[in-house]
Amino acid sequence: MKIQPFYPVKDRHSFHIDVQARYWVDYDSVEELRSVLNDAADFGLPILPVGGGNNLLFVNDYPGILLHSCLRERTVLEENDDAVLIKVGAGHNWDELVAWCVAQGWGGMQNLSGIPGEVGATPVQNIGAYGVEAKDIIEAVEVLDRTDLSQQTIAAADCDFGYRRSRFKTDWKDRYIVTHVHYRLSKKPVFQVNYGAVSARLATQGGLKAGDDTQSVKDNLQLIRRTILAIRDEKLPDPAKVGNAGSFFMNPEVGKPQYLKLKSDYPDMPAWQLSDDRYKLSAAWLIDSCGWKGRRLDDAGVWPSQPLVLVNYGQAAGEDILSLARQIIDDVSQKFSVTLRPEVIILGQEA
Ligand SMILES: Cc1cc2nc3c(=O)[nH]c(=O)nc-3n(C[C@H](O)[C@H](O)[C@H](O)COP(=O)(O)OP(=O)(O)OC[C@H]3O[C@@H](n4cnc5c(N)ncnc54)[C@H](O)[C@@H]3O)c2cc1C
Repeated sequence: MKIQPFYPVKDRHSFHIDVQARYWVDYDSVEELRSVLNDAADFGLPILPVGGGNNLLFVNDYPGILLHSCLRERTVLEENDDAVLIKVGAGHNWDELVAWCVAQGWGGMQNLSGIPGEVGATPVQNIGAYGVEAKDIIEAVEVLDRTDLSQQTIAAADCDFGYRRSRFKTDWKDRYIVTHVHYRLSKKPVFQVNYGAVSARLATQGGLKAGDDTQSVKDNLQLIRRTILAIRDEKLPDPAKVGNAGSFFMNPEVGKPQYLKLKSDYPDMPAWQLSDDRYKLSAAWLIDSCGWKGRRLDDAGVWPSQPLVLVNYGQAAGEDILSLARQIIDDVSQKFSVTLRPEVIILGQEA
């Protein structure tokens, strides 16, 4: 275990805001995690579990303990001709896990290639991309309960997964630390490649290979992974070069009457029907239509090729990013009467 006081967090989160934490703690076992939680309770310090910091905006210094898992083991729990169940430590890098599973010929994660972060956040956020969400492959989540320091295994069915949502962010907020995640992967996967950009790019490369033998499955998984990584590279800024946390806002949902009104005012507006009376709108389109794409207020900006992404061009403070986000929220609300909600977790203030 490593405990570092007055720790500069700038390089431990993807927005690269210059803040510090009262303590940064790297723990190497569940026992160590227990002992930190015990001590933290004695000192009355707030605690936040963090992974790679790819979905966080620090507005101020963090006054407590940022707890980081170094549990990185991968264990095969079950395997047969059709499927495999693996257990992975919360501190394992997500994309390295995807690369490893793809190389084994195990399908399920390939569309989630290139999402920055660590395994522990995948059930919290229910990460998603290109038609697949973490909930599609998560079977269970192992946690440490902060209320009594007991270890528990929670079935995926109990996590109430939704769009970028789980109970870990709602009624279980601040209760559990994720220590391991169990993922069920398929050796005979059904590939999900209907998503516009993915199918178009695959078509230019001759499409997926026919055949369901092990080698064809491996080749197709690799092809999908490469395709998705290439699309992401073109659209999204690399956080190592330009600070950002991916999509800053979630796509908003509206009821049918509001959808019909907006569609008649703005016939080009993209939308997806979720149910008989619910529609999801494109936050990127709404922001772009308010003229925000590519705009910059000092070092806080809106990424030119993806207006959902707010960026730190270098010296932006958390307040600068937050102020930009608030202006965008106000403009979208005034023009469309739609409220944008942040996907990014804002620490220190409300959006
Ligand atoms: C360039 C870029 C592209 C992105 N693209 C996508 C995308 O396509 N789809 C998508 O869904 N997301 C995307 N994101 C957002 C981000 O990658 C995900 O939210 C990811 O899961 C964050 O992982 P992390 O380890 O960095 O978590 P952090 O940002 O460190 O934490 C996120 C949340 O999880 C909690 N948490 C972390 N670890 C634990 C734990 N062990 N126990 C309990 N709680 C924990 C934290 O407290 C926090 O609430 C993108 C981000 C960037 C920068």
